[in-house]
Amino acid sequence: MTTNLGLSIITLITLFISLTPTLTKSEEGIDVFLPITLNLTVLTDPFSISAASHDFGNITDESPGAVLCPSSPTEVARLLGFANGGFSYNGVSSIPEPTFKVAARGQGHSLRGQASAPGGIVVNMTCLAMAAKPAAVVISADGTYADVAAGTMWVDVLKAAVERGVSPVTWTDYLYLSVGGTLSNAGIGGQTFRHGPQISNVHELDVITGKGDLMTCSPKLNPELFYGVLGGLGQFGIITRARIALGHAPTRVKWSRILYSDFSAFKRDQERLISMTNDLGVDFLEGQLMMSNGIVDTSFFPLSDQTRVASLVNDHRIIYVLEVAKYYDSTTLPIINLVMDMLSKTLGFAPGFMFIQDVPYFDFLNRVRNEEEKLRSLGLWEVPHPWLNIFVPKSRILDFHDGVISGLLLNQTATAGVTLFYPTNRNKWNNLMSTMSPDEDVFYVIGLLQSAGGSQNWQELENLNDKIIQFCENSGIKIKEYLMHYTRKEDWIKHFGPKWYDFLRRKIMFDPKRLLSPGQDIFN
Ligand code: FAD
Repeated sequence: MTTNLGLSIITLITLFISLTPTLTKSEEGIDVFLPITLNLTVLTDPFSISAASHDFGNITDESPGAVLCPSSPTEVARLLGFANGGFSYNGVSSIPEPTFKVAARGQGHSLRGQASAPGGIVVNMTCLAMAAKPAAVVISADGTYADVAAGTMWVDVLKAAVERGVSPVTWTDYLYLSVGGTLSNAGIGGQTFRHGPQISNVHELDVITGKGDLMTCSPKLNPELFYGVLGGLGQFGIITRARIALGHAPTRVKWSRILYSDFSAFKRDQERLISMTNDLGVDFLEGQLMMSNGIVDTSFFPLSDQTRVASLVNDHRIIYVLEVAKYYDSTTLPIINLVMDMLSKTLGFAPGFMFIQDVPYFDFLNRVRNEEEKLRSLGLWEVPHPWLNIFVPKSRILDFHDGVISGLLLNQTATAGVTLFYPTNRNKWNNLMSTMSPDEDVFYVIGLLQSAGGSQNWQELENLNDKIIQFCENSGIKIKEYLMHYTRKEDWIKHFGPKWYDFLRRKIMFDPKRLLSPGQDIFN
């Protein structure tokens, strides 16, 4: 364990840093600030350190020196003020200038140590959510927004909102992620084509910058900070509160999986459906691949149809699954029938292979939880996850499909995990935000969500990822990676392209000592 804290050695289970404030006169008559009271309890016990060293990716192991479990945002501000060497005055400092880095950690569902702070301090954002007053989620009187402590998981935002008949409008597939964590990336899913990513549905944020300043920001107030932090990979500040836009919460959902053996028909229908953003369109659209060299999960389909679905996959080697959902309640019941009718009559799927479930809204949004429980019970959740998430411009999706899906994936002896494949609209993505997407109106979200274990180790899967990236590079397909982890500065510069200088400028403005989220490896 590295302890690079610029403090005395941390060996106790908890360290109580109590440095008393004194303003004294030095011999030269200069005012010298001795350290003000920090009164921060940081945890250094093996359990806390180990929990903060690992993430969902299960590939990296980066021990922090300590973990802070804050009970208020001002504690985080004090920590960052201290990390900045906030106790020096007139060039005179009573203690060595601190050099430790700080990372906010939401749920630690990163893949490559992005929420780690090797040798530094990890801030456990769940503590702030638990300490939030009057509650972690506060719905406005008119139900148009929620003020949420950023360490809150989206599932808890959903629970609080639906109680009032309202709901955030756009979601990730999995809800046990923190609000601050997804807002630091983008937060994408099947509603993004209609409402944009989660970062496009935020009105206001409270952020503690890398300098330790607590600032409120919005498109009008401190916009540089607001746009920088959204998709900002934790580089400019720690989000402590987010004001999230809400809409009406439906009660039920018609959730459909529709099978295609023909890629062009699948692509055509997906693209047509995301262009329909009126009441007659679907509310959610994604897509997945079922491949005969992978595990063919037929559990969504009625028991009586599972064998013929599996045979369809075997016969064609690959089946494209269009996944759509339409929300409804008693007032919109007539529309749902029209929409489901339109889908069954106008889409070019394999005849007889459209399946519909009718489920409560909450269960639909929380659907991945069941998968998690299944995988956990099989010991397949806490395994290495060398996931590759990329955005592919629509104009090159055929080349991508032929080269990567037919060329590389189908020729593997085995594939492990889910492959997501769906288009989304870019019109609700704000280019001022830090997140990068391809420069086309429509792009595809491709998620190769592979799990190591069994016959394949994660390095082999990582090699496959490298081949995919190389194929795109060689073919001139201008992909953007999502949830990426680069270790070379030139890769980050390439990733941000024309936005790199804004990213750098904001770093200098808000975190000049480069203290925040070192696990992203951008400014180390
Ligand atoms: P962490 O891993 O804790 O942190 C991620 C980064 O954000 C780190 O750099 C951290 O320092 C920083 N950070 C965390 N909290 C804050 C804060 N309050 N202020 C500033 N910086 C902060 N993503 C999607 O977009 N769509 C999906 O459908 C989706 N599904 C997923 C399903 C699973 C099973 C998993 C494991 C991940 C999925 N993700 C998805 C990815 C997910 O959005 C990111 O991994 C996200 O970072 C997870 O949130 P977290 O709270 O675990 O973040």
